[in-house]
Amino acid sequence: MATLNLNAIKKSFGTADVLHDISLAIEDKEFVVFVGPSGCGKSTLLRIIAGLEEASSGSIVIGGEDVSHAAPVDRGISMVFQSYALYPHLSVYENIAFPLRVQKMPKEELDARVKRAADILQLTEKLQLKPGQLSGGQRQRVAIGRSIVREPKVFLFDEPLSNLDAALRGDMRVELSQLHRELDATMVYVTHDQVEAMTMADRIVVLNAGKVEQFGTPMELYHHPATKFVASFIGQPNMNFVPAKVRDIVGGLTVDLEGGHQMTLPVETEGVQIGDTVDVGIRPEHVTLGDDGLEISVNVLERLGGVSISYGTIGKTTRFCASLPGDAPISEGTTIRLTVAAEDCHVFQSNGQVLRRKSAPALVA
Ligand code: ADP
Ligand code: MG
Repeated sequence: MATLNLNAIKKSFGTADVLHDISLAIEDKEFVVFVGPSGCGKSTLLRIIAGLEEASSGSIVIGGEDVSHAAPVDRGISMVFQSYALYPHLSVYENIAFPLRVQKMPKEELDARVKRAADILQLTEKLQLKPGQLSGGQRQRVAIGRSIVREPKVFLFDEPLSNLDAALRGDMRVELSQLHRELDATMVYVTHDQVEAMTMADRIVVLNAGKVEQFGTPMELYHHPATKFVASFIGQPNMNFVPAKVRDIVGGLTVDLEGGHQMTLPVETEGVQIGDTVDVGIRPEHVTLGDDGLEISVNVLERLGGVSISYGTIGKTTRFCASLPGDAPISEGTTIRLTVAAEDCHVFQSNGQVLRRKSAPALVA
């Protein structure tokens, strides 16, 4: 069992508080992705798990064992970095075998482990080559091989694909997901790329300024973002936020959106007052072209074939992006009307917290 528990982890560098009270329970064999903007504390948290950095307070438990003060080598973890430092003068085989040589592992077992890792990573044909003879993606696979042979309880990855070009990153995403299935291991993966997070994770931790904004499955974060930050971070193109004034709070939340449209949204209205300003979150893919609804000025239209992405404004200056059918009969410099279902709208208070949706009404027998 390789569960990973973080209990109230805090970290300060001098007077700078970088991590605030982070608690997470990661399950055995789970693939968890930490995602957030640059500087939010992802690497620091990963380095604390690895034992490369000490937490200011809090504890780390791996497989039921408190490792808060254990040395990195005694934690049963293995870390792969963005810059994969391979030894240029050693063969692929020796690069992968390196940590086992350090452990003085008997030859036969070492050989079996290196060959198995090479097989999983499709490096069998490359074992005698030097790193300089490999592509970027192959080199990153050698670095991953070096961490596989140690048979860690938990794999840690810090933006391992950031140095690769876009096409290769896409391929490696698929390979890493396959690797996770084959190894059946607990993995924690750090990235600032929400597409990597959405496509690879069993569950995602969204970090913002050293705090956990939300921890959930990709679809939970997409359909039920807890905060405006999560809503703006997850989903492509990004969610639109339209400022609105609260007109009524009985039987849902009735708002006047900037640009003049009125809607009643099925959300809890506790703590909301008439006259408050809220943000109505609308995903670009949740609107349809119609004869009424939101009035949008189209500034730029990108025809991608299957879809057309319209970039425009609602009201005076609020940006509004819409994802429409590829052959949508619209053009730049015109005004269009878009409808959106009330159930597809998210409402955020000025403090960024979402107003919970009303649960579906109970069926009357
Ligand atoms: P991320 O990986 O999310 O981009 P980091 O964990 O690297 O973010 O950094 C989080 C914050 O902690 C940043 O403001 C960074 O400047 C600061 N920081 C990281 N390491 C140190 C350090 N050794 N000394 C001082 N500040 C640091
Ligand atoms: Mg980092």
